[in-house]
Amino acid sequence: MIEDKNQQRTSLSALGEFGLIGHLTRDIETSQPSTLKGIGDDGAVLDFKDKKVVVSTDLVIEGVHFDLAYMPLKHLGYKAVVVNVSDICAMNATPTQITVSIAVSNRFPVEALDELYDGIKHAAKVYGVDIVGGDTTSSQKGMILSITAIGEAEAEDITYRAGATSTDLLIVTGDVGAAYMGLQVLEREKQVFQVNPNNQPDLDPYNYLIERQLKPEARKDIKAILKALEVQPTSMIDVSDGLSSEIIHLCKNSGLGASLYEEKIPVDPQLINVCEEFNIDITTVALNGGEDYELLFTIKQADYDKIKGNPNFTVIGHMTEESAGINLVTRANTQIPLKARGWNALSEGE
Ligand SMILES: [Mg+2]
Repeated sequence: MIEDKNQQRTSLSALGEFGLIGHLTRDIETSQPSTLKGIGDDGAVLDFKDKKVVVSTDLVIEGVHFDLAYMPLKHLGYKAVVVNVSDICAMNATPTQITVSIAVSNRFPVEALDELYDGIKHAAKVYGVDIVGGDTTSSQKGMILSITAIGEAEAEDITYRAGATSTDLLIVTGDVGAAYMGLQVLEREKQVFQVNPNNQPDLDPYNYLIERQLKPEARKDIKAILKALEVQPTSMIDVSDGLSSEIIHLCKNSGLGASLYEEKIPVDPQLINVCEEFNIDITTVALNGGEDYELLFTIKQADYDKIKGNPNFTVIGHMTEESAGINLVTRANTQIPLKARGWNALSEGE
C-alpha cells in the first residue's frame, strides 16, 4: 500500500534541524486574514479582532495511535490535521491555523518526512488553515506527532458540551462505525500479507470503510449549514471515541440523561455487509467504534422542522432528565444503559 516512488534516502542528519525545518516548510504560504506572521520568526502573530479564539491540541504516537504498516505517511499527516480540525468544528468554530511538531528516530529518511508533510499540507489546503509554526526534533524510537489547531468564532456561536436541555433532540451527522471496521479489515489484510506477501487483496468491497479509517474528513461544513438553517446547536461534540461515549459526555456535561434509538443510528450499507462477514454486531460497532469525526449535537425541538429531511443530519434520540439515565432503546423496544466503551475495550473482544 505504501508507494515506493522515491528510492532516494537522505538521512536526517544530512540536513540538520534548521535545514530540515527550512526544507519541510519551504513552500508554505498563509491565506487567513488573522495570520499576521506565520513561520519564520520566534513566534507566529495572529489577530482575531473581536472574535473568540478556540485552541485544541492532540498527540499521536507510532505503535499506540497508528501503525505505519498500513497507514501511509501521507495519510497519517492528513489524518493528524483532520483530527484536530474536527475538535475546532466541534466547538462550532472555524479552524484557521495549525502548528505541527514532529519527533522522529533516524530510521526515517528526509523523504519520509516529505511524504508526511505532503499529507499535512494537503489537509491544510483542503480545510483552509495556515501552518504557522511547529518544531522538528529527534526521538529515540519511532514517530511522535503533535498538532495544535486554532480556530475563531463569534462568542454567541460557540457551542459547548454543556448547554443541552431535557427536551432537546440528539442529532448526528453522516454515519458511524465505518472507520472502526476499516481498521479491522486493514489488520486482517496485514496478517494475510505477513503469511503470504504475494497475496494481492481485493479491497474494493471495503473501500468506504478503509477510506473512513485512513482518510477521515472533519465536518467543517456543518457550522455554515446550521447557520443557513438558522439553527443554533445547544451542545456539541465530535465523534472521536465512539457515539456511546460522546453521548455520555454531552449528558454528563449538561446534567441530563438521554434516549438513543437503535433503529435510528445511521450506518453505511457497506458496514452492514462487512459486519456480517466478520460476524460482529452492527450496533456494537456503531456505538463504540470511534474515529468517525462526525459531529454529535443537540437542538431545540422547535428547530426540528428546519433540519428535517436534510441528508447531513439524523435525529437519533432525545435528551431526558438526568434521573431517567442514558439508555439505548433497542429495536425490540427494551432499554439498555449506554456504557462508555472506547476503542480498546472493543478491540479486546468485549
Ligand atoms: Mg473532541
